Amino acid sequence: AGGGGCVTLRGAQIRDLLDSKHNVLFDCDGVIWNGETAVTGAPEVVSLLKQRGKRVFFVTNNCTRPRENYVQKFSRLGFADVAEEEIFSSAYCSAAYLRDVARLQGKVYVIGCDGVMKELRDAGVPVAEEEDAEPGASIYTCPLDPDVKAVLVGYDENFTFMKLAKACCYLRSSECLFLATDPDPWHPLRGGRVTPGSGSLTAALETASSRKATVIGKPSRFMFNCIASQFGLDPARSLMIGDRLETDVLFGSNCGLTTVLTLTGVSTLQEALAFRDSQEPQQKHCAPDYVMESVADFLQALEE
Ligand code: PLP
Ligand code: CA
Repeated sequence: AGGGGCVTLRGAQIRDLLDSKHNVLFDCDGVIWNGETAVTGAPEVVSLLKQRGKRVFFVTNNCTRPRENYVQKFSRLGFADVAEEEIFSSAYCSAAYLRDVARLQGKVYVIGCDGVMKELRDAGVPVAEEEDAEPGASIYTCPLDPDVKAVLVGYDENFTFMKLAKACCYLRSSECLFLATDPDPWHPLRGGRVTPGSGSLTAALETASSRKATVIGKPSRFMFNCIASQFGLDPARSLMIGDRLETDVLFGSNCGLTTVLTLTGVSTLQEALAFRDSQEPQQKHCAPDYVMESVADFLQALEE
């Protein structure tokens, strides 16, 4: 799959598309909410899809919250009855990967945030404890844990040179796995600001270690495998709705899903068309099948 035609969806086309699908996967930030504000109409769309018998999943590269915390966020923003089991975050999937795919024998050294730590703990994956940086701690003397067999890097607002140095030492061993929660370069914040994403920290560690991380979050297929292994989804009957072409749409293409770009987030119609018209096959995979202004455009098709 991939190389969609960027068709702008309207009226009866929207109904036909929904009729042909059983599963709807939503990206979160930029599609159903922006930060702490729900996209207008998104809670109604999610409820109506469920009432019409669709299975709905949420697929987010945001690793900062554990699943249970997302349940609260959904409810706070007006999404009724979203269950923990429907939420697949890069933190949850990273823990699932270490437990079920890598079957890690040893500890994981984490550059990341509370969301990642909590999911690892819930999955029973042992984490190398980080001592609070003592004054005078140095790259020569900071302790290294001989049981570390994987490094996981994700969004970390407390990222330090010392963490980078330690991770780099662990990765000298070719037996040490190198995982990244997601490759996102940056994220929009309120007021036109941005914050560097996990991908920027991963890039630092990739350079320092001369290795490439295995990415768990979108656009990697692992996230879809994670959902499919629990719910048995047929890709051909699944729709992926996202706002970021290189992440969400590429994810959908990689997994054989029909893709929709909404324009309430990061990517623009112009960027989508540029990917569609590119001569590079890799770039074409970032072109969505369909484009719509907002998920609210589903409302009419669902209300009739
Ligand atoms: N990671 C972080 C730290 C974020 O703040 C965000 C968006 O706010 C994301 C990832 C992207 O999340 P999503 O995949 O839901 O767009
Ligand atoms: Ca997004």
